[in-house]
Amino acid sequence: MSKLAPYAANEATSRGRRYAEPPAAYRGEYQRDRDRIVHSTAFRRLMYKTQVFVNHEGDLYRTRLTHSLEVAQIARTAALALGLSEPLTEAICLAHDLGHTPFGHAGQDALNACMRDYGGFEHNLQSLRVVDELESKYAEFPGLNLTFETREGILKHCAKRNARELGELGQRFLERTEPGLEAQLADVADAIAYNNHDIDDGYRAGLLEIDQLREQPLFARHFDAVVRRYPRLEDRRLIYETIRRMIDNVVTDLIDTTRSSIEASAPATIHEVRTAGRRLVGFSPEVEAEHVALKRFLNAHLYEHDQKLATTRRVQGVLQDLFAQYMSNAQSMPREFAAAADGATDAGRARVVADYIAGMTDRFALREHERLTGNGTIERPRD
Ligand code: MG
Repeated sequence: MSKLAPYAANEATSRGRRYAEPPAAYRGEYQRDRDRIVHSTAFRRLMYKTQVFVNHEGDLYRTRLTHSLEVAQIARTAALALGLSEPLTEAICLAHDLGHTPFGHAGQDALNACMRDYGGFEHNLQSLRVVDELESKYAEFPGLNLTFETREGILKHCAKRNARELGELGQRFLERTEPGLEAQLADVADAIAYNNHDIDDGYRAGLLEIDQLREQPLFARHFDAVVRRYPRLEDRRLIYETIRRMIDNVVTDLIDTTRSSIEASAPATIHEVRTAGRRLVGFSPEVEAEHVALKRFLNAHLYEHDQKLATTRRVQGVLQDLFAQYMSNAQSMPREFAAAADGATDAGRARVVADYIAGMTDRFALREHERLTGNGTIERPRD
């Protein structure tokens, strides 16, 4: 095992679990968190949840599961290079999207709109809800009973209103302090992963063209270098070779820049990381600018692409219908959800319905929609 830096999260000084547990014989506490996440039902469901392309649009696109694995992969490399806790970093990355609805951001927006009068729906807060409450597997506690540091990393952002209800975990949003470096790293690794794999998926789907991508300096620089070196490479390999160089470029910059920030700020403990007054994990200004530009480009040309927007509208209708159905007839949900909704206030019932819908995979939501409305609103996968 590599040596932990003094500013890393260290289980010896962990703020612990909500329900005290005896230590495991052969695993550290953060390893245990990671294992619980991998064994969770919500984790397995990520396999059938949309990242950008609705799950049945093709078998080769990223899903929430493969996205989470790519995030973890990137972050673990950086964690090891920086002397941070690798198992904690991995645990946070694997759990960061557990609260995502079916159908990606379109699903999140639709469910949030349905929940407008009942406190809203936010997938990041839902990830925490999944690990704290909704997974019920263990005899002695609700949820997965993860350590404070893993939960701190999962909750990336939080409105003040919600933060007040979260006790010590919400504290940092009220006091404006930062999370530990493992959490900061997982956050950036998420953006590195999607920025790059979405180019691959967008190109595969025919929604992004090479000429268009070459308007992005980060892409153009690496693409041109690859073409110079391998002038006869076919397009698919050309794109892939470009993307791997882009990832290597930004991850190396991230590690180097973060290392300098840590040196400059010289935190002696994780507490000093939290109270440093700024994030210590980040890119150099040049790479940050390119990274943000690429993010904007993908927003405008991929996520907002007409073809994607049409799918978005269709799947939003599916979730709206499901929400309305369960609100008017809670008994059409499985027994444990129906029981939780029974006798609850409107807001309480809406939260149960949102929990149920958010847990669905894409294809389950479509099947359920068809069952309840007799209406197949979206083309079924051709298999
Ligand atoms: Mg993500």
